[in-house]
Amino acid sequence: MGRFDDRVAVITGAARGIGFATAQRFAAEGAAVAILDLDEAQAADAAARIEGTAIGIGCNVSDAASVEAAVDRVVAELGGIHILVNNAGITRDNLLFKMTEEDWDLVMGVHLKGAFLMTKAAQKHFVAQKYGKIVNLSSVSALGNRGQANYSAAKMGVQGFTRTLGIELGPFGVNANAVAPGFIATDMTDATAARVGMDVEDFRAAAAERNPVRRVGFPDDIAAAAAFLASDEASYITGQTLYVDGGATL
Ligand code: NAP
Repeated sequence: MGRFDDRVAVITGAARGIGFATAQRFAAEGAAVAILDLDEAQAADAAARIEGTAIGIGCNVSDAASVEAAVDRVVAELGGIHILVNNAGITRDNLLFKMTEEDWDLVMGVHLKGAFLMTKAAQKHFVAQKYGKIVNLSSVSALGNRGQANYSAAKMGVQGFTRTLGIELGPFGVNANAVAPGFIATDMTDATAARVGMDVEDFRAAAAERNPVRRVGFPDDIAAAAAFLASDEASYITGQTLYVDGGATL
C-alpha cells in the first residue's frame, strides 16, 4: 500500500528537474500523476518515463485559460484531483539596475501568478470534496540573493501565499505548505553556472563546500519533502515553509 493510492497528483513544470523527481516519487507511492509543462511533447515524453499511471499535458501556468483547460483535462482523464505541486519556475537573474521590467513580470508571472491560477483552479475540486494537498516551491533565495530581486520577491511571496491558503482552506480539509530548496543540482543551477562563467562540476563543488552537510541537494531530496507534506501524515501541518537546504540558511 502506498501513501498516495487512489490519489491524483498534478505537478507543474514536471518535464524535468525537481518536478519530474516529484512526479516519479508520487507515482512510486501509488498516485496517478499529471505532468504539466510548457511543451506538451516534453510533458508527454516525461509521463512515458514514469512507472505507473501518468499523463503529460502542455500548460502555461501564467495563462488562466491554459490552466483551466489543463485542470479540466486532469479531472476528465484521471478522474479527479487531490494533490497540487506548484513547481514550475524560471529565473531571469540580473542586478537590480540592469533588470528589465519584462524579466520582473516574467518571473512574477510564472512563480506567483502561476501558483495563484493553478491553486484557484484546483481548490474548487478540493473544497467540494473536502480534501486537498498543496505544496508550493519556494527557495532559500526568498531570504535575499544578489542578482535575484525578482526571484527572491516571488519566492517570499509564495511563502505568504502559502500561509494565507493555510488559513482560508484549512476549514475545508485542505493543507497548503511550501518547500524552500537550497542548491539543487538541476538544469536551473547548471544555467546559473553558465551565467557566472563556471564549469558545472566546479560550481556544484563550491556550493557543497559552503554547505554544512558538505553536499549539494538533488531533486529526490525535494521530492521526499514534498511527498511527506502532501501525505496524510502531515495533516496537522499547514501554512509552513520547510527549508530543505542541508543547513545552508542556518
Ligand atoms: P528546471 O529544471 O528549470 O525545471 C523547471 C520546469 O518548469 C521546466 O520544465 C520548465 O519548462 C517549466 N516551466 C517554466 N515556465 C513554465 C510555465 N510558464 N508553465 C509551465 N511550466 C513552466 O527547474 P528546477 O531546478 O527543477 O526547479 C523547480 C522549482 O524549484 C522552481 O520553482 C524553482 O524556482 C525551485 N527551486 C529550485 C532550486 C534549484 O537549486 N534547482 C532551488 C530553489 C528552488 P521549459 O523547460 O519549457 O522551460
